[in-house]
This record gives sequence, structure tokens and C-alpha cells, in this order.
Amino acid sequence: MPEPVAGRERTVARVPDAMPRAGLVDYHLHTPRCGHASGVPEDYVLAGLERGLAEMGFADHLPLLHMRDDTLSMPLEQLPAYVEDIVGLSRRYPEARLRLGIEADFIPTHLDRIAVLVAAHPFDYVIGSVHFIGGWGFDDPRYLDGYRDRDLYELWRRYFELLGDAAECGLFDILAHPDLIKKFGMRPQADLGEIYGDCVQRIAASGVGIEVSTAGLRKPVGEIYPAPEFLRLCCAAGVPVTPGSDAHSPEEVGQDFEMLPDFLAACGCREIAVYRDRVRDFRAL
Ligand SMILES: [Zn+2]
Ligand SMILES: [Zn+2]
Repeated sequence: MPEPVAGRERTVARVPDAMPRAGLVDYHLHTPRCGHASGVPEDYVLAGLERGLAEMGFADHLPLLHMRDDTLSMPLEQLPAYVEDIVGLSRRYPEARLRLGIEADFIPTHLDRIAVLVAAHPFDYVIGSVHFIGGWGFDDPRYLDGYRDRDLYELWRRYFELLGDAAECGLFDILAHPDLIKKFGMRPQADLGEIYGDCVQRIAASGVGIEVSTAGLRKPVGEIYPAPEFLRLCCAAGVPVTPGSDAHSPEEVGQDFEMLPDFLAACGCREIAVYRDRVRDFRAL
């Protein structure tokens, strides 16, 4: 029996499917269904493959239940089609190791309904986001007025309190862009150690992971989410970390990920968390 000619084929055949590929993953991709993203999902997958991502996952916005705004999330009736789209793509591109995720807003008044919606679909992971403080969409450029009469320290304290609540609510595997409150570069001139410390303690105790997101680099603040001080505390406390770009167009898939290995290492993070069927696994950086 002749030896296989192509060395590559031999290598591939010998690597069990469970063996993680080296490289980063991008677990935060959107689709145009949310009303504020562009490009077709297939192009996101192709872009991710081109960037050499070891794994990728769509996490489009779960339909908002406390309000309807078709520019913020897909309408409720489109959720099954979203799931079908991504499952279909994962079959067509097995080499992309595509995961099915969802990004759900933390809306304290609607947790039961969010849980029902999430349980109805075969998600590999659920990303929880804090985008609202008392109904105010603080990261929405349309509502920047809201910053005018608010005390920044109190605002940050409240944001990180909500992030801790999100960690503890039991609905999420990963917390998105953990210091999104800095998006517009408005931050209190104060020591944030206590706010960070309390929040990280709650996240670590809850067992939830966090996202390290390059999306902040594209926003007025021009920084990765979260700040290195916050990430250092998380890594020291053993909080699992998963990279995401929050891509709302194919060009944004894996964008600025070349910065991540150094950034993560400098914060004491040596492995990243990946998910399948809502079960966490780790791969070395
Ligand atoms: Zn979005
Ligand atoms: Zn997102």
C-alpha cells in the first residue's frame, strides 16, 4: 500500500478533531438581521477564514423584549431563521469551526422571558451585554444627551453593579465588552479600584467568562474592552476570557486581533475559553 503522497493530508488525518488549532477565536459576529450591520453572513465566515481564526461564532442581538426597535435587534419572528442560517453555514464551512451564539441584553425586568427564548434554540454560548441603565441606551449615539446631567462616578458605579448583576443572573456564559461605559471616552477622574474590584469579585464567584473585545478600538475611546487593570484582576481571579470583535461588517471580523496575544499576556492571561453546547473548554494561547 503506497504511502500517502501529500504530507499535509497525513497530518490532517492524524490530528483528532478535538485537538484545538493554534490561534485566536472571534466569538462576536453580527448579521444584517439586527438592522445595523452590513454584508452577508457567509462573507463574515470567509473573512474569518482568511484571517486564520481557529474558530468563530455568530452572536447576533437577541430580539429586545422590553421595546421594539428594528435598528437594534432582529424582530422576534426572525430568530428561528437566524439559527437556521448559522447552522447551515457551519455545515457548509466545517473548516471555520463555526459556533452558534447569541448576544442577549441584560434587562432585569425580562430575565424569565429571555431564559425561555434562549432555551428554545441550540446555542453554543450566550453573551450577556449591559447596554441599558434604567432604560437609557448609554452606548447609543442617539442618546448622548443622557450624559449631560449625570455624575460620571455614580454612572460607572451603577454600570459595573449591573455587570455584576448580569454575571449572577445565570443566563450568560460570557459578558460582552466589560467596560462599555467608556465607549465615548467619558470617565470619572477618580480611582476606579473599588468599582473594578467589587465587580470582578462577583464575576469570578459567578463562574461566568468575559469577552476581550477589539471593538473599542473603533470607537471614540480607542481602547480594547476591558481596560488592562480590569482584565488583570479578572485573570488573577481565574475568570475565563474569550476574544471578540463585535463585527458588524465582514471587514471587522478578527479586526486588530494581532494586538491581542501581547495584550492578553501582559494582563496575565495564558489561555482562552471556547464553548460548545454551552460547555466551556480552554485552549492555550
Ligand atoms: Zn450591534
Ligand atoms: Zn455585539
